[in-house]
Amino acid sequence: ERHDLIHWLHHLVDRFEMLVKDRDVSFVRRFSQGPIQVDMDSDKMTQVLDNIISNALKFSPEGGTITVGAELKENEALIDIQDEGQGIPIKDQHKIFDRFYRVDKARARSLGGTGLGLAIAKEMIDAHQGSVWVSSEPGQGTSIKISLPLASSGEGCESNG
Ligand code: ATP
Ligand code: MG
Repeated sequence: ERHDLIHWLHHLVDRFEMLVKDRDVSFVRRFSQGPIQVDMDSDKMTQVLDNIISNALKFSPEGGTITVGAELKENEALIDIQDEGQGIPIKDQHKIFDRFYRVDKARARSLGGTGLGLAIAKEMIDAHQGSVWVSSEPGQGTSIKISLPLASSGEGCESNG
């Protein structure tokens, strides 16, 4: 289905803000002026973003900020989820989308999780012809970026043809 990504992300972040009232973590939205029209399976993309934001929360220090961004970039929709957690060592960064991969097994066990979340997220993003990647500065935080193709033209707002 076609969705305005900005509108859709506002709802998603609203829901997380309600969920985390007991934690000293705040959300910042850095959205460009909407709308950004994308064709996506809302349930599946909700699962994707739920996992990525849950990861950000899991690794955020108290007092931390999670910044959710969305913008148009080079004819794609770009979503960015940034946290201020421990970050991911460079040598592990390419592995976090593998099934069952967790950077710190002991810590991951205490925090819960199977290591499947990002592998499933990547599969779902691939199915949307999008991509997902990480950039992280160990000790500074993690940024997970997702790009999605814009909705194909049709009904809507393009000029000339
Ligand atoms: P699950 O999602 O199945 O509950 P999980 O969160 O451990 O388990 P993934 O979401 O696939 O699994 O993440 C894989 C690993 O990548 C995590 O265990 C963690 O080591 C690392 N990771 C993911 N996101 C972050 C983040 N925001 N900050 C630091 N490390 C992260
Ligand atoms: Mg996870």
